[in-house]
Formats: sequence, structure tokens, C-alpha cells
Amino acid sequence: MRFPDPFSERGVWLKAALHAHSTASDGLLRPEEVINYYARAGYRVVSITDHDKLTRLNSSNGCLVIPGIEVTVGKDGTEYHLVVLGVEEEPRRAKDPQDIIEWARESSAVVIVAHPYWSAMGFKELTLLEGYDAIEIYNTGCDIEVGKGYSTVYWDYLLSHGIRVFGVAVDDAHRYTNPPTDALGGWVWIKVSEVETDAVLKALHQGIFYSSMGPEIKDFRLSSSTLFVKCSPVARIDIISLNGKGLSIDIDILHRLIKGWKANDKGAKSLIENITIKAADGMRILEVEMIGNVVISICEADGALHGLFIDGVNMFVDKYFRVEVTDFKGRRAWLNPIWLP
Ligand SMILES: [Zn+2]
Ligand SMILES: [Zn+2]
Repeated sequence: MRFPDPFSERGVWLKAALHAHSTASDGLLRPEEVINYYARAGYRVVSITDHDKLTRLNSSNGCLVIPGIEVTVGKDGTEYHLVVLGVEEEPRRAKDPQDIIEWARESSAVVIVAHPYWSAMGFKELTLLEGYDAIEIYNTGCDIEVGKGYSTVYWDYLLSHGIRVFGVAVDDAHRYTNPPTDALGGWVWIKVSEVETDAVLKALHQGIFYSSMGPEIKDFRLSSSTLFVKCSPVARIDIISLNGKGLSIDIDILHRLIKGWKANDKGAKSLIENITIKAADGMRILEVEMIGNVVISICEADGALHGLFIDGVNMFVDKYFRVEVTDFKGRRAWLNPIWLP
């Protein structure tokens, strides 16, 4: 099956901050300080996206600097913030967010709709905009300041309505180390064959990346009926799909189900046909045969999930699905969606 798949691409993973402000707009660090700050924290790609202002800067400290801007444009009472990456000039005045998207597309720039939840955007309005690459699914600043960091419900609305967009986690940092700290909370891992601007923009256009607040996705494979995901220790793995579809595996609920099944509990027996527990590579493999001929093999060690293999994934998905993991601190990582044929 073909889909945007960073795990089978050859190349290197680059940690990227795609939305950050400097003193050139309302940030507290000077542009060079922003780059140094992220470079010291292990980032290899940074875009300074000041408000309606293109801040030019050379790459330095092993950090590739992608020219970017956050454009604000109002329409019908909503303020759209559009993060545009890979532009060489500031946009002409625009009356409509669609004008900015068209302008960006002329130079093959990447367009991200910033913080839909924070902006109280309409779901319908987002489906009417055309040609943007991604929406922000997590924004550290919006989370820390007003508790509106997660916009994943917008993502699933768009995906459910056939709009193919990727999801990015960003900081939107203004304050950096000054409390309340709004940096190093959300980023993307981009897979590129070469560390240069065009390769990064191409990977963003094609969805060759995933987003994280901490957890690492180590591998992902998919065939027509099987799915395999391997990750750093997490509490929960979710497969999110169209209305009523999907699957959640939570470590605590799983343990209760297994206990219930062993005790012949009616509830557990109504879901699970058989459970086999094996050991491999220092992990416990819980092979759970569900009622309905689906087998879910779960890798577990030290009370955490490390991945799973599903034989019969079609049972749980329709039209599209995406994988999301959550660690024990509530930090998430998100793979980009898979659109089913
Ligand atoms: Zn904004
Ligand atoms: Zn911003």
C-alpha cells in the first residue's frame, strides 16, 4: 500500500521547530538567539515565523534556517493565522486567507493553518479553504497560556470530510525560557535525504514526517491487512478513523481485560476469544485473539506499551486512519494519516 511513509524512506531524521517568534515581532529572543536556543536543544531545522514580517537569517550552529512568516488575515469575523514556510518575500495585502494560500503556492511554499482551536475557527470554513498542506494539531504556546493547545478534533473533522491535510506540532514560542515557558513542547521529525531547504520543504509537502511532544515512533509498517507500530514506552496507542471506527489500547485497561478473561468474566469473554503470552527480546508479547478473527499482538515491558501488531486492521478503519500514542505524562506523538484506497 502506498502512503506518505517516512519510515521506509532513506535519509536522516531532523528535529524541526516550524513556528517561532523573535524580537522582530513579539518574541523575547533576538533572531540569532532563537536559532542558538533550538540548536542547543538538538533541533536541526528552525523557521522564525514573525507576525506579518519575514525575518531573514543565515543557517548557523548546525541548524538549517527556513525563511518563514505568520500572516494574519481576517474573514467573516475569524482571524486566520497562516504559517508560510519557504518564501523569499512578504505577501501583498490580502482580503482573504485563500489569497495568501494562492500567493504561497506560487513559490511552492508550505502553508500551515495555525492553532484552529485558539482562533475559534469554524470547522466548515476550514473545509472551504483550499490548497494548504497542514494544520497545527498541537501548539505549545496556546496550551501553556490558555489551555487550547490541541486542535486534533479539527484534523479528524477535515479527514472525515475527505480533506487530505497533514498535522504538525509546533511551539509558537514567544517567551522561551521565561515563565510561562512556551518552547520545546511540540515539534516535528522530518526525514530527508539531504539537509537542505528544498528537501525539507518537499518532505513537508509530501508528509514525510511525524509530530511529537516527547514519545518516539521507531517504526511503522502497513500492508492491506496488517499494521505494525513500534514506539518508546507509552501508556496508550490509539488508531483513529472515521465515525465509530478505530481502536484504543490502554495499558491499564488491557491488564484489567486480561485479568477478567482469566477469571472467566462475562465482559472480557464477550470481546476476547483467547490470550497467549510469550516472551521475546526482554518483552512480553500479549497475543490477543479478538472475537471476529482479529489478532492484536501487544509488546509490553516494565508496565508500558512498546508497540503492537494487528492482523485484520481493516476491521477497525474506514476511509482514513491515523496513529497516535500517549506517554505516562500525557505527551503525545502523531503519525500522519493514511488514506485508504
Ligand atoms: Zn498565531
Ligand atoms: Zn505565532
